Amino acid sequence: WKNAPSDLGALLDLSRTHGERPFTILDDERVSYEANWRATATLAHALKAMGVAKGDRVAFAMRNLPEWPMVFFAITTLGAIAVPLNAWWTGAELSYGIADSGAKIVIVDGERYVRLREHRGELPLVEQWIVARGDGEAGTLALETLAGAPPSWSALADTDRPRADIDSDDAATIFYTSGTTGQPKGALGTHRNLMSNILSGGFSAARSFLRRGEPVPEPQPRTTLTVIPMFHVTACSASLMGAMAAGHTTIFMRKWDAVEAMEIIEREKVNVTGGVPTIAWQLIEHPDRAKYDLSSLEAIAYGGAPSAPELVKRIYEEFGALPGNGWGMTETMATVTSHSSEDYLNRPTSAGPPVAVADLEIRADDGVTVLPTGSVGELWARGPMIVKGYWNKAQATAETFVDGWVRTGDLARLDAEGFLYIVDRAKDMVLRGGENIYSSEVENALYEHPAVTDCAIVGIPHRTLGEEPAAVVHLAPGMNATEAELQDWVRARLAAFKVPVAIRFVADTLPRNANGKILKKDLKTLFADREAAAA
Ligand code: ATP
Ligand code: MG
Repeated sequence: WKNAPSDLGALLDLSRTHGERPFTILDDERVSYEANWRATATLAHALKAMGVAKGDRVAFAMRNLPEWPMVFFAITTLGAIAVPLNAWWTGAELSYGIADSGAKIVIVDGERYVRLREHRGELPLVEQWIVARGDGEAGTLALETLAGAPPSWSALADTDRPRADIDSDDAATIFYTSGTTGQPKGALGTHRNLMSNILSGGFSAARSFLRRGEPVPEPQPRTTLTVIPMFHVTACSASLMGAMAAGHTTIFMRKWDAVEAMEIIEREKVNVTGGVPTIAWQLIEHPDRAKYDLSSLEAIAYGGAPSAPELVKRIYEEFGALPGNGWGMTETMATVTSHSSEDYLNRPTSAGPPVAVADLEIRADDGVTVLPTGSVGELWARGPMIVKGYWNKAQATAETFVDGWVRTGDLARLDAEGFLYIVDRAKDMVLRGGENIYSSEVENALYEHPAVTDCAIVGIPHRTLGEEPAAVVHLAPGMNATEAELQDWVRARLAAFKVPVAIRFVADTLPRNANGKILKKDLKTLFADREAAAA
């Protein structure tokens, strides 16, 4: 590991050694590793000429375009702080991210630019707007010219990239949390946080073979279809960093579409896809799946959100591919657990063992007492992937980051072999009278029913009990089940107080955020009639 790169600039240079191999593909556009290096170096020079220096924040928001990694690395190789904003955000949310991070340069694609236009007056700190693939509005630099010969920057790419004095522990990124439990918080990540993925990723993949006493295969360059947005740590940090070290090809899609995904998998012989569990489900259940040759798929991996254990078997049986799962949060920048191959098939309800460089503990509510193996409590994690803290939020930082450990807000347990089982988010637990109901336990029971492909348990108010569990269910196309039938199904598997008191069926899969997490707050409104009746 002596030669392992220690900052993102070094990773960019390492990636250049993959030369003409494709780095990213979007539609007909193929950007080689060499072309990516040159465009990134060019943009870095341009940003430097605009006055971007170490510690400055540069915010950016765009679709999964080939420019995304170029912008990310151009900023970070200068020692400046990249602030990738959620491209799903509205103009007001984007301007919150820009103002909160104190960015002085903003780089957006045309769509985001239009959304932000009316907010420009509220952002006096922003000195420069750069628009990628926009319509070249007055006062903006057109990043699209990067692909060809940028008029004022072309000379720059012929020289080396700018060099900056960067320590591994310097800040590199501000990624915003998903905002599932409140206002999104900016997590301040370092070069080391991101680079730790490369070490832990390779080793975790090898470990599963070592555990079975089998030889570890030589790593091969792979083609990955990345359908989750790069502005989430799952895609950027866990998948992009590893890809650049190993020379993998990353294929982007403009937007998720199962048929288009199957066409790409067949045409480009994609080896790995996934990102979030919903994507695997949609491929499995697609009526036209048999029309495509998907035999190149070797792994379908996901993480960042709860997944149904049922999915593990289906991936293996229906694609002959190995399922993979990982637990992590924006505050951990990288995967903290990694679960794959036979380990995952044998323990489909687990999120896997911690990566080699991480420690996990299950602690009591006091945040201090470590609970014995098998007990459910709050998950705490430690390792080189834990961020420095929240940007500009001293109190939240002090509450969440304690002595190198992060308090996760997830309820979990560890088994005797160290495998992690996420039981629930502390905030998703349904508190019924004196009983705690873990929504994931009831969801998993529902998922076992052959007709159920998507479901969520939410707590709905009850006058004397506080809350009761209720379910929202989406049935597989062409399958039927009644409310009473599903209630009996759960009753046969779990204690009576865990049976959903009401079930609502929805025609579509459940609403999710960009990271695949179900928006439970939105689902509660489906039970408004019960609340009204109770009142
Ligand atoms: P906020 O912190 O702003 O409320 P968030 O916690 O949803 O939002 P993220 O950092 O994107 O923001 O998500 C981290 C959370 O995702 C974890 O705390 C956990 O609840 C969930 N999660 C991540 N990976 C897994 C996994 N493999 N299985 C189950 N849950 C997971
Ligand atoms: Mg969180």
